[in-house]
Amino acid sequence: MTINQIVRNTVERLKVEGKVWTPDTYAETFCAEAKKAGFAVEDCSGIDRYVTLLDKKTADEIKQYRVRTTAELIRFLISKMSRLNPSEASILVELLSSLAKQMALSIDVLHNPEASALAKKTVAILESQGGATQIELLKQAWVNFLSLYDDSFFMKLAQFGTVDTSNLRHTIENLSLQNSSHEGVDYAKTVRLLLSSLVPSIAPTMDKTAIDLSQKLRDNPSYVATSECEKELKMAIAMRVALDKQSVEEMVSALDVLLEKLSVQLIDLIERSENSSVEIKEVKRDLEALENNKPTDFKTAHKRLYKIASTLEKKVEVLSKDLKVHNEKVTQMGKKIAALESELVAAAQASREDFLTKLFNKRAIEEFLNVKESEYTRHGRNYCVAMLDLDHFKAVNDTYGHEAGDAVLMAFSKILKEEARISDIVGRYGGEEFLAILGDTDLSGAKVFCEKVRTHVEAAHFMYQGERIAVSVSIGVAQRSDFPSLKLLVNGADERLYDAKRKGRNRVEPA
Ligand code: GH3
Ligand code: MG
Ligand code: MG
Repeated sequence: MTINQIVRNTVERLKVEGKVWTPDTYAETFCAEAKKAGFAVEDCSGIDRYVTLLDKKTADEIKQYRVRTTAELIRFLISKMSRLNPSEASILVELLSSLAKQMALSIDVLHNPEASALAKKTVAILESQGGATQIELLKQAWVNFLSLYDDSFFMKLAQFGTVDTSNLRHTIENLSLQNSSHEGVDYAKTVRLLLSSLVPSIAPTMDKTAIDLSQKLRDNPSYVATSECEKELKMAIAMRVALDKQSVEEMVSALDVLLEKLSVQLIDLIERSENSSVEIKEVKRDLEALENNKPTDFKTAHKRLYKIASTLEKKVEVLSKDLKVHNEKVTQMGKKIAALESELVAAAQASREDFLTKLFNKRAIEEFLNVKESEYTRHGRNYCVAMLDLDHFKAVNDTYGHEAGDAVLMAFSKILKEEARISDIVGRYGGEEFLAILGDTDLSGAKVFCEKVRTHVEAAHFMYQGERIAVSVSIGVAQRSDFPSLKLLVNGADERLYDAKRKGRNRVEPA
């Protein structure tokens, strides 16, 4: 395709699209057609070839303002140039340079030799208006300084007090303040050492002189420099040594006593044992020697005891085997005893008698109740149940003792038995609670029986060790025909008993 053909196509396209023929629209359409035809026209690459020559900031601005044609680019660059004020820029550079100089001068007076040297060099270069390379090198030197800077040594200062790295002046003032209180000498460390040396190493307590001196030194460490302190220290140390010595003596004599007791017991044991072996006889000899020739120091005592102990150890091994055999026998016997005990418990349970009052026990009563119940259901034989509970019985125990309480329970049981007919069944239902089953009786007859028991108890003289104990009883009574079941009958009697309690005790319910 020739260039003429492209021009023709361009004209054709502009007509078809109905665009106004400005130089820009013409150029745009021409370039599009040339591209389509596979021609690379230099003018069509637009302003890109100029923009690539500019700095990045300006290139970005050009993009942002959508500068597209060469004419627009030239207009943009002219306006940008006129906006720039060269004198303003140079003033700024001047100012920055003097600020940098001032900073360098300040660093020069600080107490870091490397920083100071670097600052001096910076000032020199700034004054001689050094070139870009020199300034770049200087910048690198500062970067190196910062990355190698190490102030960890400040932390070592911490042993003299707190270090405030953000305000060293403050830290230093504090340090000198601490020292000045002891006239420039720090006694605190020495005093701490002295105080720990005053504490006895063996004796459990400290002497009072030492305690007082310790306190004095703690309050005022500079006291250590005085001559009185020297005297007191000598005294306290002498006391400390004396205390330790005394403790050692006490320990030795305690050990002596122990040895003596041990040997007496061992000799006794050996003498009583029939088949004392050769080793045991040796132990005996050693112990006797120990008795006659008491050790004066730990070492000898220790040696002898060790020898005795190791001989005994062997012997004990044999003994422990014997013991094991015996143990087994004992365990077997223990098992037999346990079996016998459980037989005894079973026997007690099988019994129908209450061990204290000799009345029927709860188990027996329940059996009788079942018999009465079957007679009632089968033959309609009515019966009554009376529930009896002694009043304030806890107080009887508390005042006169448990034994007296037991005596009262036995005496009460006797009254109950006396008042009951042969056909009636009386028993102990709980601790101080009793139950009577009255056969072939209706409620009114049962109430008569209950009232008789109540008045008898009220009038009785319960005596214990010459003292009269006032006793009363509350009773709840119910007849079977008034209740739908045996269980509800017993519950009914119980509820009435509690009615009697509520209504003031020493009474029969229903009255
Ligand atoms: P209340 O008038 O309400 O029945 O008062 P209470 O103190 O009798 O009632 P509570 O049920 O609180 O106390 C019963 C006491 O009976 C407590 C217990 O120590 C005593 N007790 C129970 N069984 C025996 C026993 O076998 N012997 C003796 N000595 N005391 C017993
Ligand atoms: Mg009671
Ligand atoms: Mg009770």
